This record gives sequence, structure tokens and C-alpha cells, in this order.
Amino acid sequence: MRAAVLHEIGQEKLEVLDDVEAVGFGPGRVRIRVRATGLCHSDLSAMAGVLPQPAPFVPGHEGAGEILEVGEGVSHLKAGDRVVVCWLPACGACPACKRGQTELCLAGFMNAGTPNFRRPGGDVFGFAGTGTFTEEVVVDAGCAVPIPDDVPFDIAALIGCGVTTGLGAALNTADVEAGSSVAVIGCGGVGISAIQGARLKGAAEIVAVDPVASRREAALEFGATRAVSPDELADAKQQVTAGEGFDYVFEVVGKSATARTAYETTRRGGTLVVVGAGAMDDFLQLNMFELFFDEKRILPSMYGGGDVLRSYERTIALWRAGRVDLDRLITHRVPLSEINEALDQMRTGASLRTCIEI
Ligand SMILES: [Zn+2]
Ligand SMILES: [Zn+2]
Repeated sequence: MRAAVLHEIGQEKLEVLDDVEAVGFGPGRVRIRVRATGLCHSDLSAMAGVLPQPAPFVPGHEGAGEILEVGEGVSHLKAGDRVVVCWLPACGACPACKRGQTELCLAGFMNAGTPNFRRPGGDVFGFAGTGTFTEEVVVDAGCAVPIPDDVPFDIAALIGCGVTTGLGAALNTADVEAGSSVAVIGCGGVGISAIQGARLKGAAEIVAVDPVASRREAALEFGATRAVSPDELADAKQQVTAGEGFDYVFEVVGKSATARTAYETTRRGGTLVVVGAGAMDDFLQLNMFELFFDEKRILPSMYGGGDVLRSYERTIALWRAGRVDLDRLITHRVPLSEINEALDQMRTGASLRTCIEI
């Protein structure tokens, strides 16, 4: 079958090969025919070595498709079921799951060192234990979450990562207060989802911050009240908050430099929500005086910071009711053969979300 493979960390281009096999099927596992997968910035980060990931590997972790076969002991799924691929499955039994913090369950990472694919040249890993830039993938049954019939595969794929992450940051982690002021730094698919979440919660002012003009325009269409480039942020802070700083600032880039800017843009007593996935050797500096004296709350948000399955259901309900716009989040649609062009579009910020139709 076909899959897009990165041979070595640091390479920019994937090779679409047709000699790849999805491996690991057995008890408790399911085989999925992937129909749609989104490009998430974390895929680029893993390819570049910013996020830890062994190579060669098949990137992609935001996908949806149909169950082809289920292994022994899998009772909640059958062939033909439509599912979203969840890269962070909840085991239901660990302390984090029992507390309801299923986004902190580490069960999904237990298989991280096990190859998901094989080709004549040897083993191939799957990103984040999944790997969705492929026709088929084998995952734990817990990674396959059934979706209702009215949710198309492309929308379901977005719910698998970017939308859940961005919406959840605003709805779960920040729990944005009505009437508040919000700034969102980084307006790709996740940032736009955070903007939609802040709008749903009734934020009065939502300032979108991004260096790319087309993303700023998009942010305005999705609910931002103004959109500025990074060098205009200080002025916007002055105009919107009289210099005090925003009630909530979302950092959706994953770099210490933008996190530091976000910290300085947050008002005293306000909330900085860290959404971007950054590198282990990129350190955010805060001095002990400001940390204590300014009483800013720093809230990291992992995968939307809440019960993952509940977040999926909530997003579907909001989408059905027309309260969040997921359809226009997909700005590009391409076949797997054009994945490298799609990656380039994401690097330059030309796309919000690209859907790979497989
Ligand atoms: Zn667990
Ligand atoms: Zn992602």
C-alpha cells in the first residue's frame, strides 16, 4: 500500500512509496483504511527533530477513516465503522484517567518504540504511535473513536488533533470569561480554533497575531475583532487594554520567544495559555520577582486540556449547530501524491489546514 515516509530526521521532503505494509495487527488492535488526514504543525516539528520521534517514519496523526478489521477482544468496533484516529487514547485505568485528565494518560506512548509499518528496506515508525499519511494504519482499539454518520471524514480528521487542541485551550484550560480581552499568537488551524473557542465563551475583544496577512484575514472571519502582525502587538495591547495587558493570551507557536512575548502581553493576574508544542532544549526565562509579583497564571494546555472523548463530542455538537466553523478551516485539499507541496504551503503559512484525501 501507499504511504508517505520521512527517511531521516531533518529532511524536508517525504517520499510517497507503494511498498509499505501496516503491521502490528492482533488482539486489541484494529486496522483502519485512512480516508482523510490533516496536516498539523506537529508533523513538521517531528520531521525537523523539534519533537522526539524515531525515523524512518510515516508522519500524520490527525486522521479519519473506516475500520477494515478488528482484532480479538475488540467488542465496541466492527468492520465498516467510521472512526477518528485518536493519537492520545485514554486507558481508563491509570491515575490520570481516573481523575478525568485523560489528556495526560501515557498509555498511548507505551507503543511509541514499536514500528507501525514495514517495507522491504526495514521497519518504519508511525508518528505519535499512529502515522496517518498512509492508506492503512494499525492502532490500539482505543485509538479508533467512532464518529456519527453525518460527520464527513475531513471534518473528523480535524477533530483528531488541531480543532480539539485549539478549542479545548479556550473552553477547558482557560475557561475564558465573558467580556474579557484575549490575544492569540499564531493563527494556523489551532490558533483559529482557539479564536473560535474564545468567541463561543463571549470574549469581548479577540486580537489575532500572525506574521502572515492571509492568516490575519482568516482570523477576522473566524471571530477575531482585530488582527495584527507581531510588531503591531504592543500597539494593540495599548489600544485594547490601555496598556494593562490582555486577560488571556494564547501562545500557539511553541517557541520560548513567543511565549515570553505572550507572558509580557498578559495583564497582571491574567492567564497565559501555552498551546504550542515546543522543543526540549528551548527554555522560557522568567525571573522570580515577576513570577511572584505579577501573579500571572501560566496554564499549559495539552491536546485541549480536558477529557478527550468528551471534547470530540462537544466539537461535533457545536459544528452541527453551526456554532463553530470547521469547513472553512480546510483551505486546501490534495491527494497523497502532492503532500510535499502541501507541507511547503504549511511552512509558509499559506494554508490553515490542508486535508489529504486518500
Ligand atoms: Zn490512562
Ligand atoms: Zn496535531
